[in-house]
Amino acid sequence: MDDLKILKQQLKKEQAARREAEKRLHLIQKTQAQSEATAVTHTDETRFRRFLDSASDIIYEIDLDGRFTYANPMVVYRLGLTRPEEVLGHHYLNLVHPDDRSQVADFYAQQYHTKTFSTYQEFRLATAVSEPVWLGQNVWLAYQGDVIVGFQAIARDISKRKKMENELQAQRDFGQQIMANLGQGLTVVGADGLFEYVNPAYARMLGYTEAELLGQDPTTFTHPDDLDALLAARNQRKTGETTTYETRLVQKDGGALYALLTGVPRWVNGRSAGSVTVITDLTERKLMEQEILHARDHALELSNLKSQFVANMSHEIRTPLNGVIGMTELLAETPLDEEQLEFVEIIRTSSDALLSIINNVLDFSKISEDKLDLEMQPVNVRQVLEEAIDIVSPRVARKNVEIAYVVAYEAPIVILGDVGRLRQILVNLLSNAVKFTEAGEITISVMNHQHQDGRPQIHFAVKDTGIGIPQEAVERIFQSFSQVDASTTRKYGGTGLGLAISQHLCKKMGGQMWVESHLGEGSTFHFTIDAVTPAEYVPVSLPELPELAQQTALWDMMLPDTAVSGAEALAAPGKQQEPSSTSSARILLAEDNPINQQVALSILEHLGFQADVAANGLEVLAALERQPYDVILMDIQMPEMDGLETTRQICARLPEGKRPYIIAMTANAVKGDRERYLATGMNHYISKPVRIAAIAEALAQFMPS
Ligand code: ADP
Repeated sequence: MDDLKILKQQLKKEQAARREAEKRLHLIQKTQAQSEATAVTHTDETRFRRFLDSASDIIYEIDLDGRFTYANPMVVYRLGLTRPEEVLGHHYLNLVHPDDRSQVADFYAQQYHTKTFSTYQEFRLATAVSEPVWLGQNVWLAYQGDVIVGFQAIARDISKRKKMENELQAQRDFGQQIMANLGQGLTVVGADGLFEYVNPAYARMLGYTEAELLGQDPTTFTHPDDLDALLAARNQRKTGETTTYETRLVQKDGGALYALLTGVPRWVNGRSAGSVTVITDLTERKLMEQEILHARDHALELSNLKSQFVANMSHEIRTPLNGVIGMTELLAETPLDEEQLEFVEIIRTSSDALLSIINNVLDFSKISEDKLDLEMQPVNVRQVLEEAIDIVSPRVARKNVEIAYVVAYEAPIVILGDVGRLRQILVNLLSNAVKFTEAGEITISVMNHQHQDGRPQIHFAVKDTGIGIPQEAVERIFQSFSQVDASTTRKYGGTGLGLAISQHLCKKMGGQMWVESHLGEGSTFHFTIDAVTPAEYVPVSLPELPELAQQTALWDMMLPDTAVSGAEALAAPGKQQEPSSTSSARILLAEDNPINQQVALSILEHLGFQADVAANGLEVLAALERQPYDVILMDIQMPEMDGLETTRQICARLPEGKRPYIIAMTANAVKGDRERYLATGMNHYISKPVRIAAIAEALAQFMPS
């Protein structure tokens, strides 16, 4: 503390001055004694007088009545007199501040009675100004022989030091006042670790009086479970660090109080000497936090309920739809006349449309809750593209439209991403292109692209020669539930969700989606996504394109390397699932819903297989006790025991070579499901509604022959 240093220096100076004064007094006394004993020469006397007169201290002598018998010019000056002679006969008390007079008088009396040879006292001078002038005064008893005849005094101005002391005291009082009135608790702990000071607020927090806490160990008031934190903080402070931690304090009545403690180490002469700690009561904040957590839980619960509701609804709708789609597919394979075929076709397109609407609504609700997560799996770009084209090709076949794609020679072949979601974007853009194009062609091009910072991307463009989009609608079509105009809905159908979802998916994949379009000429939908090549993927030296295609498939040439005509497209699905002959594979179908059972059984039959049925996991296990199965088609959601648990049980009961080939079937596939199913011990995975082709492919994996 700087002020303290200055004060100490000041005191030292004063002490030196006092010693100097003592020497002078001594000299006076000696001279007087001499002049009494011998005759002092006039020159001696004069020299001595000059010496006293020139002193900046106040020097005087009074008789036992208190009247001046000698005073140096400083006294004359202080009393407002002009000549030293005038001082004689004046009472010394005239010099003293009225408030200090009785105290000074007592002091002299005391010295006289106790015969104390030398004393020191401090008092205020009587002055006209309000600023007090303090004197520090040494007083000696003056003897004549053995008789005390008066007092000799030498005094000097100590106002500067007094002022400083007062200021310091005021500062201390101020600090004290703050500590006492602080809303927060404040404690000072000494080197011994015990309370040296606690403020009223701290005492109030704990329910003790300040006196009860002084000299106590802070650990006494710390919750036993939080002692470690306190001790850790104590050790940390010893290294000079300030500590802040939350802890529970124990109140007098045994209650616990949440508090935030900020402790600052104290240092005395370079050694750690306890700490000063500020304690903040966290009770209210804790309560508020709890309320906020509560509110958040509630909101989460509501939002969970909502998404659960949407998931349930879509599941509920999909289950009967599964029946419609499956049976329609089977119905289309039976001998039908032209009119019947037309009806079946209408049922099929309607149910497909309904399914895609349900999927969109589910996606949309996931997006608005930010629950849509993407998978990161190696994706073969060309394969996804072909799958997407396959999906829309039946619709292309009904129009005078050609569909083709071109993959730029340098475009990545395999990237890390979400196959399903990439396919979804492509199918959406292709469906729109087909929907809004009556004649001409649809071309998909795939190119290399880059972020500004050089990170690789892949750029897709779907170009059609359809009706086009008016300029003013271009921004709007990416918004949810938005279409160019209401009349398109009547003519073309749709919900206006597809582009909103696709654009969102692109953004999630690190890219963008935009459109270029001219009314009446056609539209090109562009999108980019991040294209990270999987680390374990070793690219083949050249893309598996014929030599010629490699050269011609450059972007600017735009030469299609695959063309699918309507007829070709129609022919393709027919070829896929020729029933071979009735197979002897033993298949168990685990499915609780009777319609879905019927669909799956019929598809299996169509493919040439027979199957037993189990309505839940327990029945599956029971069936396996009776006889072995080669394949189990396992629904995931089943009562009693679900598909996952059933698979675990099977794996626990049967050694690896003896387990059936398990194909999972589920309606609401989310990110990570596939991995989860496979990790449980399942071998394959198909999503509902189950299609003839999907079951055929899954079984083909099991029986490659
Ligand atoms: P939906 O097609 O289900 O209505 P989308 O979000 O996929 O919803 O499309 C929104 C609207 O954008 C469509 O209704 C249509 O008006 C317009 N649109 C989309 N693609 C095309 C296209 N290729 N050609 C012309 N208009 C299109």
